[in-house]
Amino acid sequence: MTALHDAPTALERLDRQPYTYVRRELVEPDWRRFPGWAHVTDAQWRDAQWQRVNCVKNVKQLRKVAGDLLTEKFYDDLAADQENFATMSMLLPPQMLNTMAVDAPLSPAEFTDAFLADPVRRYMLPVRSDRDPRWPSHPHSQRDSLHEAEMWVVEGLTHRYPTKVLAEMVSTCPQYCGHCTRMDLVGNSTPLIDKHKLSLKPVDRQDQMIEYLKKTPGVRDVVVSGGDVANVPWPQLESFLMRVLDIDTVRDVRLATKALAGLPQHWLQPRVVEGLERVARTASRRGVNLAIHTHVNHAQSVTPLVAEAARTALEVGVRDVRNQGVLMKGVNATPDDLLDLCFALQGEANILPYYFYMCDMIPNAEHWRVSVWEAQELQHAIMGYLPGYATPRIVCDVPYVGKRWVHQLEEYDRELGISYWTKNYRTGIELEDPEALNRRYPYYDPISTLGETGQKWWAGQS
Ligand code: SF4
Repeated sequence: MTALHDAPTALERLDRQPYTYVRRELVEPDWRRFPGWAHVTDAQWRDAQWQRVNCVKNVKQLRKVAGDLLTEKFYDDLAADQENFATMSMLLPPQMLNTMAVDAPLSPAEFTDAFLADPVRRYMLPVRSDRDPRWPSHPHSQRDSLHEAEMWVVEGLTHRYPTKVLAEMVSTCPQYCGHCTRMDLVGNSTPLIDKHKLSLKPVDRQDQMIEYLKKTPGVRDVVVSGGDVANVPWPQLESFLMRVLDIDTVRDVRLATKALAGLPQHWLQPRVVEGLERVARTASRRGVNLAIHTHVNHAQSVTPLVAEAARTALEVGVRDVRNQGVLMKGVNATPDDLLDLCFALQGEANILPYYFYMCDMIPNAEHWRVSVWEAQELQHAIMGYLPGYATPRIVCDVPYVGKRWVHQLEEYDRELGISYWTKNYRTGIELEDPEALNRRYPYYDPISTLGETGQKWWAGQS
């Protein structure tokens, strides 16, 4: 029995937990450490237009910003990736680039090392040496790995779940993430990937979406996405949202925008804030839950400007701002990284940590993906620290199934890294399929995480 005087002090109690919560103040890193931004003023930094004009889109532009802070070897590594592996073109708003290598020493060798190891850099600016040397892609990877386009009921409107639809308003974003699930459609073509294009005019596509929603009263939840809704001209987005809110049967509307974190300046522009307020007021009058869903993957990205953008949206009447991150090795796939991020979001920015998706099986993503058992362990490790309602679920988006909590699998062959999943609803393309609900749907772990036997088996298959 422990004597009273042996009882741990408050500090020791913290130290004895696998994760130690410490409240951290948000900071906007000083962008003037980059030679190309040495003279950029606060007013320019807060200006959404300045941010958009000064996005980094290629190696040459990165050189102009970072100059000799990065070594030639780094620039070559980046160019090699763009040429041979990238499924997304480069597009980095200064705001995002500024959250990389935040406290790094400013000597080229040390800054480059810190930049290479940086979790935000790892997914926003991938380099050749990041990729898995043996299995850059899983043999079952696919361009449209979730088969969203197969489930379009009109161009850009995916009807996958019984009561929800995803409306892809635009195929561009203010920033491009290396691991983008919609790499098939979103962004500019890369040397490796010739992107598909939306063919209808936006106005015609939106008309068709509205018609579908009107004649399909079973759909009550509309995710208005892209790309990123921050790239839809505001008057166009507001008009579409008002038309959606006019449909009685729609009860939830969610706006998907990574720009809340990547370009918070967009969501702080007076005309956008005023427009958002009109939409939020209309939603509230009609009893519709209007929310913003953003995509933040690391605590470093949660800066005071991001918190200000989220709070502004809440102040003007948006019911919730939630985060759907993506679980990625080298970025956030440790309990500490996930919990640090969740506490920054929930405690400092009023953004609800909601989901972490496992990174999807797109080409050249194996170095980011984690196996299902690793995701299960992470889910276990993050339980109990955050309020229950703010404890994110780690989910696997299983092709032809949809999101499943990572513990929901039916069977798991750990040797070959194949998990099997079932579902309780039909997607839009299976309404006549008698076997849809009896079938087991496979999902594949990254081959590099398997033992020798599993790796040999896959080598034989390919
Ligand atoms: S913001 Fe979303 S849609 Fe745009 S590139 Fe990133 S993951 Fe893809």
